[in-house]
Amino acid sequence: MRIDCELCSLQGGEVVHVATHWHVVLVDDAGYPGFCRVIWNGHVQEMTDLSLAERNSLMAAVWQVEAAVRDVMQPHKINLASLGNMVPHVHWHVIPRFEDDAQFPAPVWAQAQRATAPEILVQRTDLLPTLRTAIRARLASLI
Ligand SMILES: [Zn+2]
Repeated sequence: MRIDCELCSLQGGEVVHVATHWHVVLVDDAGYPGFCRVIWNGHVQEMTDLSLAERNSLMAAVWQVEAAVRDVMQPHKINLASLGNMVPHVHWHVIPRFEDDAQFPAPVWAQAQRATAPEILVQRTDLLPTLRTAIRARLASLI
Protein backbone atom coordinates (compact mmCIF):
# COMPACT_ATOMS: atom_id res chain seq x y z
CA MET A 1 0.00 0.00 0.00
CA ARG A 2 1.46 3.28 -1.10
CA ILE A 3 -0.35 6.52 -0.68
CA ASP A 4 1.17 7.96 -3.88
CA CYS A 5 -0.19 5.06 -5.94
CA GLU A 6 -3.55 5.57 -7.62
CA LEU A 7 -4.37 1.86 -7.50
CA CYS A 8 -3.67 1.69 -3.76
CA SER A 9 -5.40 4.92 -2.78
CA LEU A 10 -8.38 4.85 -5.19
CA GLN A 11 -9.88 1.63 -6.44
CA GLY A 12 -11.33 3.21 -9.58
CA GLY A 13 -14.52 1.24 -9.22
CA GLU A 14 -16.25 -1.42 -7.17
CA VAL A 15 -14.15 -4.15 -5.55
CA VAL A 16 -16.06 -7.32 -6.44
CA HIS A 17 -13.70 -9.96 -5.06
CA VAL A 18 -10.71 -10.00 -2.73
CA ALA A 19 -8.37 -13.01 -2.61
CA THR A 20 -5.19 -13.53 -0.61
CA HIS A 21 -2.88 -12.14 -3.29
CA TRP A 22 -5.06 -10.15 -5.69
CA HIS A 23 -8.40 -8.45 -6.02
CA VAL A 24 -10.82 -7.64 -8.81
CA VAL A 25 -12.38 -4.25 -9.50
CA LEU A 26 -15.33 -3.57 -11.75
CA VAL A 27 -14.09 -0.31 -13.23
CA ASP A 28 -16.33 2.73 -13.05
CA ASP A 29 -16.23 3.78 -16.71
CA ALA A 30 -19.57 4.79 -18.23
CA GLY A 31 -18.32 4.19 -21.78
CA TYR A 32 -17.04 0.69 -21.02
CA PRO A 33 -19.46 -1.27 -18.82
CA GLY A 34 -17.85 -4.59 -17.88
CA PHE A 35 -14.29 -3.23 -17.85
CA CYS A 36 -12.50 -5.11 -15.04
CA ARG A 37 -9.11 -4.84 -13.41
CA VAL A 38 -7.25 -7.67 -11.67
CA ILE A 39 -4.76 -6.13 -9.26
CA TRP A 40 -1.94 -7.78 -7.33
CA ASN A 41 -2.36 -6.83 -3.67
CA GLY A 42 1.32 -6.22 -2.99
CA HIS A 43 3.13 -3.28 -4.45
CA VAL A 44 5.32 -4.80 -7.17
CA GLN A 45 6.23 -3.26 -10.49
CA GLU A 46 6.62 -6.13 -12.95
CA MET A 47 5.18 -9.61 -13.47
CA THR A 48 8.73 -10.98 -13.14
CA ASP A 49 8.94 -9.53 -9.63
CA LEU A 50 6.46 -12.28 -8.72
CA SER A 51 7.35 -15.93 -8.21
CA LEU A 52 6.09 -18.38 -10.82
CA ALA A 53 3.38 -19.58 -8.43
CA GLU A 54 2.30 -15.99 -7.78
CA ARG A 55 2.18 -15.21 -11.49
CA ASN A 56 0.11 -18.31 -12.10
CA SER A 57 -2.28 -17.31 -9.32
CA LEU A 58 -2.72 -13.84 -10.80
CA MET A 59 -3.21 -15.10 -14.35
CA ALA A 60 -5.69 -17.77 -13.24
CA ALA A 61 -7.78 -14.91 -11.90
CA VAL A 62 -7.38 -12.97 -15.17
CA TRP A 63 -8.58 -15.98 -17.19
CA GLN A 64 -11.62 -16.46 -14.99
CA VAL A 65 -12.53 -12.76 -15.19
CA GLU A 66 -12.09 -12.87 -18.98
CA ALA A 67 -14.38 -15.90 -19.19
CA ALA A 68 -17.03 -14.20 -17.03
CA VAL A 69 -16.86 -11.02 -19.13
CA ARG A 70 -17.20 -13.05 -22.34
CA ASP A 71 -20.15 -15.04 -21.01
CA VAL A 72 -22.08 -12.06 -19.74
CA MET A 73 -21.11 -9.10 -21.92
CA GLN A 74 -20.80 -11.05 -25.21
CA PRO A 75 -18.16 -8.67 -26.60
CA HIS A 76 -16.75 -8.67 -30.10
CA LYS A 77 -13.26 -9.03 -28.54
CA ILE A 78 -11.52 -9.02 -25.17
CA ASN A 79 -8.55 -6.73 -24.73
CA LEU A 80 -6.04 -7.70 -22.05
CA ALA A 81 -3.49 -5.09 -21.09
CA SER A 82 -0.84 -4.63 -18.46
CA LEU A 83 0.69 -1.18 -18.74
CA GLY A 84 1.44 0.33 -15.36
CA ASN A 85 3.47 3.16 -16.80
CA MET A 86 1.81 5.63 -14.45
CA VAL A 87 1.42 3.32 -11.45
CA PRO A 88 4.27 0.87 -10.70
CA HIS A 89 1.80 -1.69 -9.37
CA VAL A 90 1.10 -4.87 -11.33
CA HIS A 91 -2.45 -5.10 -12.65
CA TRP A 92 -4.28 -6.44 -15.70
CA HIS A 93 -7.08 -4.71 -17.55
CA VAL A 94 -9.77 -7.02 -18.92
CA ILE A 95 -11.79 -4.95 -21.37
CA PRO A 96 -14.84 -6.04 -23.38
CA ARG A 97 -14.63 -4.42 -26.81
CA PHE A 98 -17.47 -3.79 -29.20
CA GLU A 99 -17.38 -2.53 -32.76
CA ASP A 100 -19.53 0.40 -31.65
CA ASP A 101 -17.41 1.36 -28.64
CA ALA A 102 -15.91 4.85 -28.66
CA GLN A 103 -12.36 3.85 -29.60
CA PHE A 104 -12.81 0.59 -31.55
CA PRO A 105 -10.60 -0.74 -33.14
CA ALA A 106 -7.96 1.38 -31.40
CA PRO A 107 -7.02 0.80 -27.75
CA VAL A 108 -9.49 2.20 -25.21
CA TRP A 109 -6.93 4.85 -24.29
CA ALA A 110 -6.86 6.26 -27.82
CA GLN A 111 -8.83 9.26 -29.02
CA ALA A 112 -12.58 8.63 -29.32
CA GLN A 113 -13.80 7.97 -32.85
CA ARG A 114 -17.53 7.89 -32.11
CA ALA A 115 -20.04 7.97 -29.27
CA THR A 116 -21.75 4.69 -28.39
CA ALA A 117 -25.55 5.00 -28.52
CA PRO A 118 -26.85 5.76 -25.02
CA GLU A 119 -29.46 2.97 -25.20
CA ILE A 120 -26.72 0.46 -26.00
CA LEU A 121 -24.69 1.61 -23.00
CA VAL A 122 -27.81 1.23 -20.83
CA GLN A 123 -28.29 -2.35 -22.08
CA ARG A 124 -24.66 -3.18 -21.29
CA THR A 125 -24.77 -1.47 -17.91
CA ASP A 126 -27.87 -3.50 -17.04
CA LEU A 127 -25.71 -6.64 -17.33
CA LEU A 128 -23.36 -5.59 -14.53
CA PRO A 129 -25.22 -7.31 -11.65
CA THR A 130 -25.06 -10.56 -13.66
CA LEU A 131 -21.37 -9.97 -14.37
CA ARG A 132 -20.63 -9.34 -10.69
CA THR A 133 -22.29 -12.65 -9.77
CA ALA A 134 -20.48 -14.52 -12.56
CA ILE A 135 -17.07 -13.16 -11.51
CA ARG A 136 -17.63 -14.08 -7.87
CA ALA A 137 -18.79 -17.58 -8.83
CA ARG A 138 -15.75 -18.19 -11.04
CA LEU A 139 -13.28 -16.81 -8.49
CA ALA A 140 -14.74 -18.52 -5.42
CA SER A 141 -12.54 -21.59 -5.87
CA LEU A 142 -9.29 -19.62 -6.42
CA ILE A 143 -7.06 -18.47 -3.59
ZN1 LIG B 1 -0.18 0.57 -5.50
